[in-house]
Amino acid sequence: MTSDNETVSATTRLLRSRVSKHAIIGLLISVGCILLATSLAGFFESGSINLDSMVYAQKTNFALWVLDLMPFLFIMWGQYASSVMASQASVVIMDQTSDLRAHADAVEYKANYEATHDLLTGLPNRVLVFDRMLQAHSTARRDDKPFAILIMDLDHFKEINDTLGHYNGDRLLKQVAARLKDTVRDIDTVGRLGGDEFAVLLPTISSSEDAEEVAQKLLKALEPRFVIQGVNLDVTASIGIAVYPQHGDDVDTLMQRADVAMYTTKNARTGYGLYCPSHDDNSKRRLTLAGELRQSIENGGLVLYYQPKVNLRTGQITGAEALVRWQHPEHGTMFPDEFIPLAERTGLIRPLTLWVIEQGLKDCAYWNAQGLNAGVSLNISARELIDPMIPESFEKLLKRHDVDPELVVLEITESAIMADPQRALDILNRLNAMGIKVSVDDFGTGYSSLAYLKQLPVSEIKIDKSFVMEMLQDENDAVIVRATIDLAHNLGMSVVAEGVQDRATRDQLGRLGCDVVQGQFSGMPMKCDELIERSALDPEQPSIVSAKG
Ligand code: C2E
Ligand code: CA
Ligand code: CA
Repeated sequence: MTSDNETVSATTRLLRSRVSKHAIIGLLISVGCILLATSLAGFFESGSINLDSMVYAQKTNFALWVLDLMPFLFIMWGQYASSVMASQASVVIMDQTSDLRAHADAVEYKANYEATHDLLTGLPNRVLVFDRMLQAHSTARRDDKPFAILIMDLDHFKEINDTLGHYNGDRLLKQVAARLKDTVRDIDTVGRLGGDEFAVLLPTISSSEDAEEVAQKLLKALEPRFVIQGVNLDVTASIGIAVYPQHGDDVDTLMQRADVAMYTTKNARTGYGLYCPSHDDNSKRRLTLAGELRQSIENGGLVLYYQPKVNLRTGQITGAEALVRWQHPEHGTMFPDEFIPLAERTGLIRPLTLWVIEQGLKDCAYWNAQGLNAGVSLNISARELIDPMIPESFEKLLKRHDVDPELVVLEITESAIMADPQRALDILNRLNAMGIKVSVDDFGTGYSSLAYLKQLPVSEIKIDKSFVMEMLQDENDAVIVRATIDLAHNLGMSVVAEGVQDRATRDQLGRLGCDVVQGQFSGMPMKCDELIERSALDPEQPSIVSAKG
Protein backbone atom coordinates (compact mmCIF):
# COMPACT_ATOMS: atom_id res chain seq x y z
CA MET A 1 0.00 0.00 0.00
CA THR A 2 2.77 2.51 0.93
CA SER A 3 4.41 1.90 -2.42
CA ASP A 4 1.05 2.63 -4.09
CA ASN A 5 0.86 5.97 -2.22
CA GLU A 6 4.43 6.87 -3.14
CA THR A 7 3.72 6.13 -6.79
CA VAL A 8 0.61 8.27 -6.67
CA SER A 9 2.27 11.29 -5.00
CA ALA A 10 5.29 11.12 -7.31
CA THR A 11 2.98 11.00 -10.33
CA THR A 12 0.89 13.86 -8.91
CA ARG A 13 4.05 15.96 -8.44
CA LEU A 14 5.10 15.27 -11.99
CA LEU A 15 1.67 16.19 -13.37
CA ARG A 16 1.52 19.35 -11.24
CA SER A 17 4.91 20.51 -12.43
CA ARG A 18 3.84 20.01 -16.04
CA VAL A 19 0.61 21.93 -15.53
CA SER A 20 2.51 24.71 -13.64
CA LYS A 21 4.95 25.03 -16.56
CA HIS A 22 2.08 25.68 -18.96
CA ALA A 23 0.49 28.13 -16.48
CA ILE A 24 3.80 30.12 -16.23
CA ILE A 25 4.09 30.31 -20.02
CA GLY A 26 0.47 31.58 -20.08
CA LEU A 27 1.37 34.12 -17.39
CA LEU A 28 4.40 35.40 -19.32
CA ILE A 29 2.38 35.67 -22.54
CA SER A 30 -0.40 37.60 -20.76
CA VAL A 31 2.13 40.00 -19.10
CA GLY A 32 3.70 40.51 -22.57
CA CYS A 33 0.24 41.27 -24.00
CA ILE A 34 -0.45 43.81 -21.21
CA LEU A 35 2.86 45.59 -21.90
CA LEU A 36 2.17 45.65 -25.66
CA ALA A 37 -1.46 46.80 -25.22
CA THR A 38 -0.43 49.51 -22.67
CA SER A 39 2.35 50.82 -24.98
CA LEU A 40 -0.05 50.95 -27.97
CA ALA A 41 -2.81 52.66 -25.86
CA GLY A 42 -0.21 55.24 -24.56
CA PHE A 43 0.98 55.86 -28.15
CA PHE A 44 -2.58 56.51 -29.41
CA GLU A 45 -3.30 58.83 -26.46
CA SER A 46 -0.07 60.96 -26.44
CA GLY A 47 1.69 60.19 -29.78
CA SER A 48 4.82 58.57 -28.15
CA ILE A 49 5.78 55.45 -26.14
CA ASN A 50 7.31 56.23 -22.71
CA LEU A 51 6.67 55.44 -19.08
CA ASP A 52 4.38 58.46 -18.55
CA SER A 53 2.18 57.64 -21.51
CA MET A 54 1.95 54.00 -20.33
CA VAL A 55 1.07 55.03 -16.72
CA TYR A 56 -1.51 57.40 -18.09
CA ALA A 57 -3.02 54.66 -20.29
CA GLN A 58 -3.17 52.29 -17.33
CA LYS A 59 -4.99 54.89 -15.26
CA THR A 60 -7.59 55.88 -17.87
CA ASN A 61 -8.18 52.80 -20.18
CA PHE A 62 -10.90 50.46 -18.86
CA ALA A 63 -10.07 47.70 -21.39
CA LEU A 64 -6.52 47.52 -19.98
CA TRP A 65 -7.90 46.90 -16.49
CA VAL A 66 -9.70 43.83 -17.82
CA LEU A 67 -6.48 42.72 -19.52
CA ASP A 68 -4.56 43.28 -16.24
CA LEU A 69 -6.74 40.60 -14.62
CA MET A 70 -5.51 37.92 -17.09
CA PRO A 71 -2.26 36.91 -15.26
CA PHE A 72 -4.20 36.35 -12.03
CA LEU A 73 -6.78 34.29 -13.93
CA PHE A 74 -3.97 32.20 -15.48
CA ILE A 75 -2.43 31.52 -12.08
CA MET A 76 -5.73 30.50 -10.50
CA TRP A 77 -6.78 28.39 -13.49
CA GLY A 78 -3.38 26.64 -13.56
CA GLN A 79 -3.62 25.82 -9.87
CA TYR A 80 -7.17 24.54 -10.24
CA ALA A 81 -6.46 22.46 -13.38
CA SER A 82 -3.37 20.87 -11.86
CA SER A 83 -5.17 19.75 -8.72
CA VAL A 84 -8.12 18.32 -10.70
CA MET A 85 -5.84 16.44 -13.10
CA ALA A 86 -3.69 15.13 -10.30
CA SER A 87 -6.64 13.74 -8.38
CA GLN A 88 -8.09 12.10 -11.49
CA ALA A 89 -4.72 10.65 -12.36
CA SER A 90 -4.29 9.25 -8.89
CA VAL A 91 -7.63 7.43 -9.14
CA VAL A 92 -6.65 5.92 -12.49
CA ILE A 93 -3.24 4.93 -11.21
CA MET A 94 -4.70 3.33 -8.10
CA ASP A 95 -7.13 1.30 -10.24
CA GLN A 96 -4.49 0.17 -12.68
CA THR A 97 -2.04 -0.72 -9.99
CA SER A 98 -4.49 -2.94 -8.15
CA ASP A 99 -5.61 -4.53 -11.48
CA LEU A 100 -1.99 -5.25 -12.31
CA ARG A 101 -1.36 -6.69 -8.87
CA ALA A 102 -4.49 -8.93 -9.09
CA HIS A 103 -3.44 -10.05 -12.55
CA ALA A 104 0.06 -10.90 -11.36
CA ASP A 105 -1.40 -12.82 -8.41
CA ALA A 106 -3.74 -14.76 -10.74
CA VAL A 107 -0.88 -15.62 -13.11
CA GLU A 108 1.23 -16.83 -10.22
CA TYR A 109 -1.65 -18.86 -8.77
CA LYS A 110 -2.45 -20.40 -12.17
CA ALA A 111 1.17 -21.35 -12.80
CA ASN A 112 1.33 -22.87 -9.34
CA TYR A 113 -1.96 -24.71 -9.79
CA GLU A 114 -1.00 -26.04 -13.21
CA ALA A 115 2.30 -27.30 -11.91
CA THR A 116 0.62 -29.24 -9.12
CA HIS A 117 -2.80 -30.25 -10.49
CA ASP A 118 -4.21 -32.37 -13.24
CA LEU A 119 -6.11 -29.96 -15.44
CA LEU A 120 -8.70 -32.47 -16.63
CA THR A 121 -9.95 -33.67 -13.27
CA GLY A 122 -8.74 -30.89 -10.99
CA LEU A 123 -7.07 -33.51 -8.78
CA PRO A 124 -3.51 -33.14 -7.48
CA ASN A 125 -1.04 -34.41 -10.07
CA ARG A 126 1.93 -36.73 -9.65
CA VAL A 127 4.15 -33.92 -8.33
CA LEU A 128 1.76 -32.83 -5.58
CA VAL A 129 0.79 -36.39 -4.68
CA PHE A 130 4.44 -37.29 -4.30
CA ASP A 131 5.04 -34.20 -2.17
CA ARG A 132 2.16 -35.10 0.14
CA MET A 133 3.49 -38.63 0.36
CA LEU A 134 6.85 -37.29 1.47
CA GLN A 135 5.12 -35.22 4.17
CA ALA A 136 3.06 -38.21 5.29
CA HIS A 137 6.24 -40.28 5.35
CA SER A 138 8.13 -37.87 7.61
CA THR A 139 5.18 -37.54 10.00
CA ALA A 140 4.67 -41.30 10.09
CA ARG A 141 8.36 -41.89 10.75
CA ARG A 142 8.43 -39.30 13.55
CA ASP A 143 5.28 -40.67 15.22
CA ASP A 144 6.10 -44.30 14.42
CA LYS A 145 2.69 -44.82 12.80
CA PRO A 146 1.67 -46.44 9.50
CA PHE A 147 0.32 -44.76 6.38
CA ALA A 148 -0.88 -46.25 3.09
CA ILE A 149 -0.51 -45.62 -0.62
CA LEU A 150 -3.15 -47.01 -2.98
CA ILE A 151 -2.68 -47.13 -6.73
CA MET A 152 -5.77 -47.62 -8.79
CA ASP A 153 -6.09 -48.36 -12.48
CA LEU A 154 -9.38 -48.62 -14.37
CA ASP A 155 -10.01 -51.94 -16.10
CA HIS A 156 -10.44 -51.86 -19.89
CA PHE A 157 -10.16 -48.08 -20.03
CA LYS A 158 -8.18 -48.33 -23.26
CA GLU A 159 -11.10 -50.16 -24.82
CA ILE A 160 -13.52 -47.47 -23.67
CA ASN A 161 -11.23 -44.76 -24.98
CA ASP A 162 -10.77 -46.50 -28.30
CA THR A 163 -14.44 -47.21 -28.77
CA LEU A 164 -16.09 -44.07 -27.40
CA GLY A 165 -13.35 -41.63 -28.37
CA HIS A 166 -10.96 -39.58 -26.27
CA TYR A 167 -13.49 -36.84 -25.54
CA ASN A 168 -15.81 -39.34 -23.87
CA GLY A 169 -12.88 -41.09 -22.22
CA ASP A 170 -12.04 -37.74 -20.63
CA ARG A 171 -15.62 -37.28 -19.47
CA LEU A 172 -15.52 -40.67 -17.83
CA LEU A 173 -12.24 -39.83 -16.06
CA LYS A 174 -13.76 -36.64 -14.67
CA GLN A 175 -16.75 -38.52 -13.29
CA VAL A 176 -14.53 -41.22 -11.81
CA ALA A 177 -12.33 -38.55 -10.18
CA ALA A 178 -15.36 -36.89 -8.59
CA ARG A 179 -16.62 -40.17 -7.13
CA LEU A 180 -13.21 -41.09 -5.73
CA LYS A 181 -12.80 -37.70 -4.12
CA ASP A 182 -16.23 -37.94 -2.49
CA THR A 183 -15.37 -41.30 -1.00
CA VAL A 184 -12.31 -40.41 1.06
CA ARG A 185 -11.83 -38.08 4.05
CA ASP A 186 -10.61 -34.51 3.68
CA ILE A 187 -7.18 -35.33 5.05
CA ASP A 188 -6.67 -38.05 2.44
CA THR A 189 -5.38 -37.18 -1.02
CA VAL A 190 -6.77 -38.50 -4.29
CA GLY A 191 -4.55 -37.66 -7.23
CA ARG A 192 -4.26 -38.57 -10.88
CA LEU A 193 -0.92 -40.05 -11.87
CA GLY A 194 -1.73 -40.01 -15.58
CA GLY A 195 -4.00 -41.83 -18.03
CA ASP A 196 -6.49 -43.93 -16.10
CA GLU A 197 -4.19 -44.28 -13.09
CA PHE A 198 -5.08 -42.68 -9.76
CA ALA A 199 -3.29 -42.63 -6.41
CA VAL A 200 -4.83 -42.34 -2.97
CA LEU A 201 -2.78 -41.37 0.05
CA LEU A 202 -4.12 -42.28 3.47
CA PRO A 203 -1.81 -40.39 5.85
CA THR A 204 -3.36 -41.71 9.06
CA ILE A 205 -4.39 -45.34 9.38
CA SER A 206 -4.11 -47.67 12.32
CA SER A 207 -3.45 -50.84 10.32
CA SER A 208 -3.42 -52.27 6.80
CA GLU A 209 -7.05 -53.35 7.28
CA ASP A 210 -8.06 -49.67 7.26
CA ALA A 211 -6.45 -49.31 3.83
CA GLU A 212 -8.26 -52.41 2.57
CA GLU A 213 -11.55 -50.97 3.81
CA VAL A 214 -10.96 -47.73 1.91
CA ALA A 215 -10.10 -49.76 -1.22
CA GLN A 216 -13.43 -51.56 -0.90
CA LYS A 217 -15.25 -48.24 -0.54
CA LEU A 218 -13.52 -46.84 -3.62
CA LEU A 219 -14.53 -49.86 -5.70
CA LYS A 220 -18.07 -49.60 -4.38
CA ALA A 221 -18.20 -45.94 -5.42
CA LEU A 222 -17.58 -47.01 -9.02
CA GLU A 223 -20.41 -49.57 -8.99
CA PRO A 224 -23.33 -47.35 -10.06
CA ARG A 225 -23.20 -47.23 -13.86
CA PHE A 226 -21.64 -44.26 -15.62
CA VAL A 227 -23.66 -42.73 -18.43
CA ILE A 228 -21.53 -41.32 -21.20
CA GLN A 229 -23.27 -40.10 -24.33
CA GLY A 230 -26.32 -42.21 -23.59
CA VAL A 231 -24.21 -45.36 -23.21
CA ASN A 232 -24.31 -47.12 -19.85
CA LEU A 233 -20.86 -48.12 -18.76
CA ASP A 234 -19.88 -50.53 -16.04
CA VAL A 235 -16.50 -49.41 -14.85
CA THR A 236 -14.35 -51.56 -12.62
CA ALA A 237 -10.88 -50.93 -11.32
CA SER A 238 -7.95 -52.67 -9.70
CA ILE A 239 -6.26 -51.28 -6.61
CA GLY A 240 -2.82 -52.15 -5.26
CA ILE A 241 -1.97 -51.20 -1.66
CA ALA A 242 1.40 -50.63 0.01
CA VAL A 243 1.62 -49.75 3.71
CA TYR A 244 4.49 -48.03 5.54
CA PRO A 245 6.63 -49.45 7.13
CA GLN A 246 5.54 -53.02 6.41
CA HIS A 247 6.02 -52.84 2.59
CA GLY A 248 8.76 -50.28 2.29
CA ASP A 249 10.83 -47.69 4.09
CA ASP A 250 10.62 -44.85 1.60
CA VAL A 251 8.03 -43.34 -0.71
CA ASP A 252 9.69 -44.57 -3.94
CA THR A 253 9.65 -48.17 -2.80
CA LEU A 254 6.08 -47.90 -1.55
CA MET A 255 4.87 -46.39 -4.83
CA GLN A 256 6.60 -49.07 -6.86
CA ARG A 257 5.20 -51.84 -4.66
CA ALA A 258 1.66 -50.47 -4.73
CA ASP A 259 2.02 -50.51 -8.54
CA VAL A 260 3.19 -54.13 -8.55
CA ALA A 261 0.27 -55.06 -6.25
CA MET A 262 -2.12 -53.27 -8.63
CA TYR A 263 -0.94 -55.32 -11.63
CA THR A 264 -1.20 -58.55 -9.71
CA THR A 265 -4.71 -57.61 -8.63
CA LYS A 266 -5.66 -56.77 -12.20
CA ASN A 267 -4.53 -60.15 -13.47
CA ALA A 268 -6.18 -62.01 -10.63
CA ARG A 269 -9.32 -59.85 -11.03
CA THR A 270 -9.67 -59.56 -7.28
CA GLY A 271 -10.44 -55.83 -7.18
CA TYR A 272 -7.84 -54.84 -4.59
CA GLY A 273 -4.88 -56.38 -2.84
CA LEU A 274 -1.96 -55.66 -0.51
CA TYR A 275 1.58 -55.94 -1.81
CA CYS A 276 3.29 -59.25 -1.25
CA PRO A 277 6.96 -60.00 -2.15
CA SER A 278 5.97 -62.81 -4.53
CA HIS A 279 4.24 -60.13 -6.67
CA ASP A 280 7.62 -58.89 -7.86
CA ASP A 281 8.20 -62.14 -9.69
CA ASN A 282 4.75 -61.83 -11.28
CA SER A 283 5.39 -58.37 -12.58
CA LYS A 284 8.70 -59.43 -14.10
CA ARG A 285 6.90 -62.40 -15.60
CA ARG A 286 4.26 -60.12 -17.10
CA LEU A 287 6.86 -57.99 -18.86
CA THR A 288 8.70 -61.01 -20.17
CA LEU A 289 5.46 -62.64 -21.26
CA ALA A 290 4.45 -59.68 -23.42
CA GLY A 291 7.79 -59.88 -25.25
CA GLU A 292 7.50 -63.63 -25.65
CA LEU A 293 3.93 -63.38 -26.92
CA ARG A 294 5.00 -60.96 -29.62
CA GLN A 295 7.65 -63.42 -30.77
CA SER A 296 5.27 -66.37 -30.62
CA ILE A 297 2.71 -64.61 -32.82
CA GLU A 298 5.43 -64.08 -35.43
CA ASN A 299 7.15 -67.43 -35.09
CA GLY A 300 4.31 -69.92 -34.98
CA GLY A 301 4.03 -70.34 -31.20
CA LEU A 302 0.22 -70.13 -31.29
CA VAL A 303 -2.13 -73.00 -32.14
CA LEU A 304 -5.84 -73.06 -32.82
CA TYR A 305 -7.98 -75.71 -31.21
CA TYR A 306 -11.49 -76.31 -32.47
CA GLN A 307 -14.57 -77.10 -30.45
CA PRO A 308 -17.37 -78.75 -32.43
CA LYS A 309 -20.74 -77.06 -32.75
CA VAL A 310 -23.29 -79.83 -33.22
CA ASN A 311 -26.69 -79.40 -34.87
CA LEU A 312 -29.30 -80.84 -32.47
CA ARG A 313 -31.65 -82.02 -35.21
CA THR A 314 -29.13 -83.78 -37.44
CA GLY A 315 -26.46 -84.59 -34.86
CA GLN A 316 -23.86 -83.40 -37.39
CA ILE A 317 -20.94 -81.07 -36.76
CA THR A 318 -21.95 -77.92 -38.60
CA GLY A 319 -19.20 -75.71 -37.35
CA ALA A 320 -16.27 -75.37 -34.99
CA GLU A 321 -15.18 -72.55 -32.72
CA ALA A 322 -11.52 -71.61 -33.01
CA LEU A 323 -9.96 -71.26 -29.54
CA VAL A 324 -6.39 -70.07 -29.40
CA ARG A 325 -3.66 -71.74 -27.32
CA TRP A 326 -0.12 -70.59 -26.74
CA GLN A 327 2.53 -73.28 -26.69
CA HIS A 328 4.92 -71.61 -24.34
CA PRO A 329 8.44 -73.08 -24.35
CA GLU A 330 8.66 -72.99 -20.53
CA HIS A 331 5.12 -72.72 -19.17
CA GLY A 332 3.60 -75.31 -21.51
CA THR A 333 0.14 -74.79 -23.02
CA MET A 334 -1.33 -71.47 -21.96
CA PHE A 335 -5.06 -70.72 -22.23
CA PRO A 336 -6.57 -67.54 -23.66
CA ASP A 337 -7.66 -66.22 -20.27
CA GLU A 338 -3.97 -66.09 -19.35
CA PHE A 339 -2.80 -64.04 -22.34
CA ILE A 340 -5.72 -62.39 -24.18
CA PRO A 341 -6.02 -59.65 -21.50
CA LEU A 342 -2.25 -59.13 -21.77
CA ALA A 343 -2.54 -58.94 -25.57
CA GLU A 344 -5.36 -56.42 -25.25
CA ARG A 345 -3.37 -54.24 -22.88
CA THR A 346 -0.23 -54.26 -24.98
CA GLY A 347 -1.77 -53.85 -28.42
CA LEU A 348 -0.70 -57.37 -29.40
CA ILE A 349 -4.37 -58.26 -29.86
CA ARG A 350 -4.30 -56.91 -33.43
CA PRO A 351 -1.57 -59.19 -34.81
CA LEU A 352 -2.98 -62.02 -32.69
CA THR A 353 -6.48 -61.60 -34.16
CA LEU A 354 -5.10 -61.41 -37.69
CA TRP A 355 -3.17 -64.60 -37.08
CA VAL A 356 -6.32 -66.34 -35.71
CA ILE A 357 -8.37 -65.21 -38.71
CA GLU A 358 -5.77 -66.39 -41.20
CA GLN A 359 -5.17 -69.77 -39.50
CA GLY A 360 -8.91 -70.31 -38.91
CA LEU A 361 -9.73 -69.72 -42.58
CA LYS A 362 -6.85 -71.95 -43.69
CA ASP A 363 -8.04 -74.81 -41.44
CA CYS A 364 -11.66 -74.33 -42.47
CA ALA A 365 -10.65 -74.61 -46.13
CA TYR A 366 -8.69 -77.74 -45.22
CA TRP A 367 -11.53 -79.60 -43.43
CA ASN A 368 -13.99 -78.66 -46.16
CA ALA A 369 -11.57 -80.11 -48.69
CA GLN A 370 -11.43 -83.27 -46.49
CA GLY A 371 -15.22 -83.61 -46.70
CA LEU A 372 -16.26 -82.00 -43.43
CA ASN A 373 -18.74 -79.35 -44.49
CA ALA A 374 -18.55 -77.11 -41.48
CA GLY A 375 -17.98 -73.43 -40.88
CA VAL A 376 -15.54 -71.74 -38.54
CA SER A 377 -16.41 -69.43 -35.64
CA LEU A 378 -13.80 -66.81 -34.72
CA ASN A 379 -13.71 -64.79 -31.48
CA ILE A 380 -13.22 -61.06 -32.03
CA SER A 381 -12.37 -58.75 -29.12
CA ALA A 382 -14.10 -55.44 -28.59
CA ARG A 383 -10.96 -53.58 -29.52
CA GLU A 384 -10.82 -55.24 -32.89
CA LEU A 385 -14.47 -54.65 -33.65
CA ILE A 386 -13.80 -50.96 -34.16
CA ASP A 387 -10.84 -51.48 -36.48
CA PRO A 388 -12.07 -50.13 -39.83
CA MET A 389 -9.46 -52.32 -41.59
CA ILE A 390 -11.07 -55.56 -40.37
CA PRO A 391 -13.51 -55.94 -43.31
CA GLU A 392 -10.68 -55.43 -45.81
CA SER A 393 -8.45 -57.92 -44.01
CA PHE A 394 -11.25 -60.48 -44.21
CA GLU A 395 -11.84 -59.87 -47.87
CA LYS A 396 -8.16 -60.43 -48.65
CA LEU A 397 -7.82 -63.55 -46.48
CA LEU A 398 -11.08 -65.12 -47.70
CA LYS A 399 -9.77 -64.80 -51.25
CA ARG A 400 -6.31 -66.06 -50.36
CA HIS A 401 -7.67 -69.25 -48.78
CA ASP A 402 -10.64 -69.57 -51.10
CA VAL A 403 -13.20 -69.80 -48.29
CA ASP A 404 -16.91 -69.13 -48.81
CA PRO A 405 -17.77 -66.15 -46.51
CA GLU A 406 -21.01 -67.96 -45.58
CA LEU A 407 -18.86 -70.43 -43.62
CA VAL A 408 -17.48 -67.74 -41.33
CA VAL A 409 -19.10 -66.70 -38.05
CA LEU A 410 -17.70 -63.90 -35.88
CA GLU A 411 -18.34 -64.32 -32.17
CA ILE A 412 -18.68 -60.97 -30.50
CA THR A 413 -19.68 -60.24 -26.93
CA GLU A 414 -22.57 -57.91 -26.12
CA SER A 415 -20.30 -55.52 -24.29
CA ALA A 416 -18.08 -55.20 -27.36
CA ILE A 417 -21.07 -54.09 -29.41
CA MET A 418 -22.49 -51.84 -26.72
CA ALA A 419 -19.18 -50.06 -26.19
CA ASP A 420 -19.67 -48.14 -29.44
CA PRO A 421 -22.87 -49.34 -31.10
CA GLN A 422 -22.62 -46.97 -34.07
CA ARG A 423 -19.10 -47.92 -35.08
CA ALA A 424 -19.69 -51.60 -34.38
CA LEU A 425 -22.87 -51.49 -36.47
CA ASP A 426 -21.03 -49.93 -39.35
CA ILE A 427 -18.28 -52.55 -39.36
CA LEU A 428 -20.66 -55.45 -38.76
CA ASN A 429 -22.85 -54.28 -41.65
CA ARG A 430 -19.86 -54.21 -43.96
CA LEU A 431 -18.83 -57.72 -42.88
CA ASN A 432 -22.39 -58.96 -43.15
CA ALA A 433 -22.69 -57.54 -46.66
CA MET A 434 -19.77 -59.81 -47.59
CA GLY A 435 -21.76 -62.83 -46.33
CA ILE A 436 -20.01 -63.23 -42.96
CA LYS A 437 -22.36 -64.09 -40.06
CA VAL A 438 -22.37 -62.49 -36.63
CA SER A 439 -22.97 -64.35 -33.39
CA VAL A 440 -23.51 -62.76 -29.96
CA ASP A 441 -21.23 -64.61 -27.53
CA ASP A 442 -21.81 -65.12 -23.79
CA PHE A 443 -25.42 -63.96 -24.20
CA GLY A 444 -27.12 -63.20 -20.90
CA THR A 445 -24.06 -61.86 -19.14
CA GLY A 446 -24.39 -58.33 -20.58
CA TYR A 447 -27.21 -55.84 -20.59
CA SER A 448 -28.38 -55.58 -24.17
CA SER A 449 -31.87 -56.73 -25.01
CA LEU A 450 -32.61 -59.09 -27.85
CA ALA A 451 -34.85 -56.39 -29.30
CA TYR A 452 -31.84 -54.07 -29.48
CA LEU A 453 -29.67 -56.74 -31.05
CA LYS A 454 -32.33 -57.15 -33.73
CA GLN A 455 -31.16 -53.84 -35.18
CA LEU A 456 -27.76 -55.40 -35.79
CA PRO A 457 -26.99 -57.96 -38.47
CA VAL A 458 -26.96 -60.79 -35.89
CA SER A 459 -27.90 -64.29 -36.98
CA GLU A 460 -26.92 -66.35 -33.93
CA ILE A 461 -27.09 -66.11 -30.14
CA LYS A 462 -24.81 -68.17 -27.88
CA ILE A 463 -26.36 -68.66 -24.45
CA ASP A 464 -23.59 -68.32 -21.91
CA LYS A 465 -22.36 -71.56 -20.36
CA SER A 466 -23.08 -70.25 -16.85
CA PHE A 467 -26.83 -70.63 -17.54
CA VAL A 468 -26.56 -73.89 -19.47
CA MET A 469 -24.36 -75.84 -17.04
CA GLU A 470 -26.84 -75.50 -14.17
CA MET A 471 -30.11 -75.38 -16.09
CA LEU A 472 -31.29 -78.79 -14.89
CA GLN A 473 -30.74 -77.91 -11.25
CA ASP A 474 -31.49 -74.20 -11.18
CA GLU A 475 -35.01 -73.11 -12.14
CA ASN A 476 -33.90 -69.49 -12.78
CA ASP A 477 -31.31 -70.63 -15.29
CA ALA A 478 -33.88 -72.88 -16.95
CA VAL A 479 -36.27 -69.93 -17.34
CA ILE A 480 -33.54 -67.75 -18.88
CA VAL A 481 -32.51 -70.49 -21.32
CA ARG A 482 -36.13 -71.16 -22.39
CA ALA A 483 -36.97 -67.43 -22.78
CA THR A 484 -33.82 -66.74 -24.76
CA ILE A 485 -34.49 -69.58 -27.18
CA ASP A 486 -38.08 -68.44 -27.79
CA LEU A 487 -37.23 -64.76 -28.18
CA ALA A 488 -34.25 -65.40 -30.46
CA HIS A 489 -36.38 -67.62 -32.70
CA ASN A 490 -39.08 -64.97 -32.86
CA LEU A 491 -36.42 -62.57 -34.09
CA GLY A 492 -35.21 -65.04 -36.69
CA MET A 493 -31.91 -65.90 -34.98
CA SER A 494 -30.55 -69.37 -34.34
CA VAL A 495 -29.52 -70.42 -30.83
CA VAL A 496 -26.33 -72.14 -29.69
CA ALA A 497 -26.04 -73.41 -26.10
CA GLU A 498 -22.42 -73.50 -24.83
CA GLY A 499 -21.12 -75.55 -21.91
CA VAL A 500 -23.31 -78.57 -22.63
CA GLN A 501 -21.63 -81.25 -20.53
CA ASP A 502 -24.08 -84.16 -20.44
CA ARG A 503 -26.73 -86.00 -22.38
CA ALA A 504 -29.61 -84.89 -20.09
CA THR A 505 -28.85 -81.21 -20.69
CA ARG A 506 -28.49 -81.79 -24.42
CA ASP A 507 -31.83 -83.61 -24.55
CA GLN A 508 -33.61 -80.91 -22.59
CA LEU A 509 -32.17 -78.26 -24.94
CA GLY A 510 -33.49 -80.35 -27.83
CA ARG A 511 -36.98 -80.28 -26.31
CA LEU A 512 -36.75 -76.48 -25.84
CA GLY A 513 -35.99 -76.10 -29.54
CA CYS A 514 -32.32 -75.08 -29.25
CA ASP A 515 -30.54 -75.37 -32.61
CA VAL A 516 -26.91 -76.12 -31.83
CA VAL A 517 -24.97 -77.40 -28.81
CA GLN A 518 -21.33 -76.96 -27.93
CA GLY A 519 -19.48 -78.29 -24.90
CA GLN A 520 -17.79 -81.17 -23.23
CA PHE A 521 -20.57 -83.60 -24.21
CA SER A 522 -19.84 -83.28 -27.93
CA GLY A 523 -16.17 -82.54 -27.48
CA MET A 524 -13.73 -80.18 -25.79
CA PRO A 525 -11.51 -78.05 -28.05
CA MET A 526 -9.31 -80.33 -30.24
CA LYS A 527 -6.73 -80.12 -32.99
CA CYS A 528 -7.93 -79.59 -36.56
CA ASP A 529 -7.17 -83.19 -37.59
CA GLU A 530 -8.99 -84.60 -34.56
CA LEU A 531 -12.04 -82.56 -35.53
CA ILE A 532 -12.06 -84.17 -38.96
CA GLU A 533 -11.67 -87.64 -37.40
CA ARG A 534 -14.40 -86.92 -34.93
CA SER A 535 -16.88 -85.85 -37.61
CA ALA A 536 -16.63 -89.34 -39.03
CA LEU A 537 -17.62 -90.95 -35.70
CA ASP A 538 -21.10 -91.74 -34.42
CA PRO A 539 -22.54 -88.38 -33.30
CA GLU A 540 -24.50 -90.10 -30.50
CA GLN A 541 -21.24 -91.18 -28.86
CA PRO A 542 -20.42 -88.70 -26.09
CA SER A 543 -16.97 -87.23 -26.20
CA ILE A 544 -14.19 -89.09 -24.51
CA VAL A 545 -12.06 -85.97 -24.61
CA SER A 546 -12.67 -84.40 -21.26
CA ALA A 547 -9.49 -82.53 -20.47
CA LYS A 548 -9.59 -78.85 -21.34
CA GLY A 549 -7.63 -78.08 -24.52
P1 C2E B 1 -15.65 -68.43 -25.07
O1 C2E B 1 -15.71 -67.79 -26.40
O2 C2E B 1 -16.87 -68.35 -24.23
O3 C2E B 1 -15.20 -69.91 -25.34
C1 C2E B 1 -15.69 -70.99 -24.68
C2 C2E B 1 -14.79 -71.39 -23.56
O4 C2E B 1 -15.48 -72.36 -22.76
C3 C2E B 1 -13.53 -72.09 -24.04
O5 C2E B 1 -12.50 -71.79 -23.12
C4 C2E B 1 -13.88 -73.55 -23.93
O6 C2E B 1 -12.75 -74.37 -23.76
C5 C2E B 1 -14.73 -73.57 -22.68
N1 C2E B 1 -15.67 -74.67 -22.70
C6 C2E B 1 -16.18 -75.28 -23.79
N2 C2E B 1 -17.01 -76.26 -23.44
C7 C2E B 1 -17.06 -76.28 -22.10
C8 C2E B 1 -17.78 -77.06 -21.14
O7 C2E B 1 -18.56 -77.97 -21.45
N3 C2E B 1 -17.59 -76.78 -19.84
C9 C2E B 1 -16.75 -75.79 -19.46
N4 C2E B 1 -16.58 -75.55 -18.16
N5 C2E B 1 -16.06 -75.02 -20.32
C10 C2E B 1 -16.22 -75.27 -21.63
P2 C2E B 1 -11.13 -71.25 -23.61
O8 C2E B 1 -10.71 -71.91 -24.85
O9 C2E B 1 -10.21 -71.26 -22.45
O10 C2E B 1 -11.46 -69.77 -24.01
C11 C2E B 1 -11.77 -68.84 -23.07
C12 C2E B 1 -12.16 -67.54 -23.71
O11 C2E B 1 -11.06 -66.95 -24.37
C13 C2E B 1 -13.19 -67.71 -24.80
O12 C2E B 1 -14.45 -67.79 -24.23
C14 C2E B 1 -12.98 -66.47 -25.63
O13 C2E B 1 -13.71 -65.39 -25.08
C15 C2E B 1 -11.51 -66.19 -25.46
N6 C2E B 1 -10.82 -66.63 -26.68
C16 C2E B 1 -10.47 -67.86 -27.07
N7 C2E B 1 -9.85 -67.81 -28.26
C17 C2E B 1 -9.81 -66.52 -28.63
C18 C2E B 1 -9.31 -65.81 -29.79
O14 C2E B 1 -8.79 -66.39 -30.74
N8 C2E B 1 -9.45 -64.47 -29.82
C19 C2E B 1 -10.06 -63.79 -28.80
N9 C2E B 1 -10.17 -62.48 -28.90
N10 C2E B 1 -10.55 -64.42 -27.72
C20 C2E B 1 -10.42 -65.77 -27.64
CA1 CA C 1 -16.70 -67.65 -28.14
CA1 CA D 1 -18.86 -67.94 -24.87
